[in-house]
Amino acid sequence: MNRVIMFHTIRDKDWFERVVLLLGKKYKFVSADDVEDYYYKSKNLKNACLLTVDDGDLTSFEVIYPVLKKHNVPGVFFVSPKISRRDGMLNFWFQEIENCDKDKLLSYFKETSNRGIRSLSLNRATFNDMPVDEIIERIEEYKFKNNISPLPPQNMNEEHIKLIDAEGLVKIGAHTMTHPFLSYETDERSKSEIKDSLLDLENMLGHPIKYFAYPNGLPNEDFGQREIDILKKTKCRIAFSTQYKNFSKRDNPYSIPRFGVTYGNENFIMMKLLLGKYYPKIKKIITALG
Ligand SMILES: [Zn+2]
Repeated sequence: MNRVIMFHTIRDKDWFERVVLLLGKKYKFVSADDVEDYYYKSKNLKNACLLTVDDGDLTSFEVIYPVLKKHNVPGVFFVSPKISRRDGMLNFWFQEIENCDKDKLLSYFKETSNRGIRSLSLNRATFNDMPVDEIIERIEEYKFKNNISPLPPQNMNEEHIKLIDAEGLVKIGAHTMTHPFLSYETDERSKSEIKDSLLDLENMLGHPIKYFAYPNGLPNEDFGQREIDILKKTKCRIAFSTQYKNFSKRDNPYSIPRFGVTYGNENFIMMKLLLGKYYPKIKKIITALG
């Protein structure tokens, strides 16, 4: 069984270190290059595990990266160059949502849009086809009208990303510019979100970017053949979805599935799936942390 695991924000270093150590007992950690070679050069992988982190918030640098370095575990961080350059946007729109009173913001979305929005969870269905520019505009209007002070930058900046890239253990991959639900965007916008994020990072780091992760990431929902075809014409070699299963040769290299692991409520089931007989151990750790 070969697996890619996806993390987001991790605030608890001890928890993350224990998870890494336990995963290391069950799997052999591999790099993104190994997974690339698995798909393109018939490299054999057995019980392989690639660690990936989406969005690149500051905990990627302050919590996750030091643990990976300490144990010499490779990985990939998927980031937006627009966000890291603080280029007109300091934070992802879903981070701004967390900074607002969600009930009030939801009412504002309902008042100002006839799309029948039911909630503001990070889930494509709840936004009913709303393009990302409209989501961002609504949030900005709401913040302005309610005098909500700006959220300080939550994500890694250019310097953090350059340092990680230079050290080489963890690779940098692209994650679009503004984190849209790509399937809601026009052909042109979907293309620019993908290509610009790859090219901007290439310019920043001085080498081609070979890895990409789709925002939200469910195949045929959040992205589709259109996005795969866009990526195939770039220097990107492998791309990751959030389809919850092992990866195998049967996958399209531009739609490699991943297991999401979040510190919080869903941990128990996911860790059980991932860790098998190590599960009781980790359950104790999680329970102790409350
Ligand atoms: Zn993301």
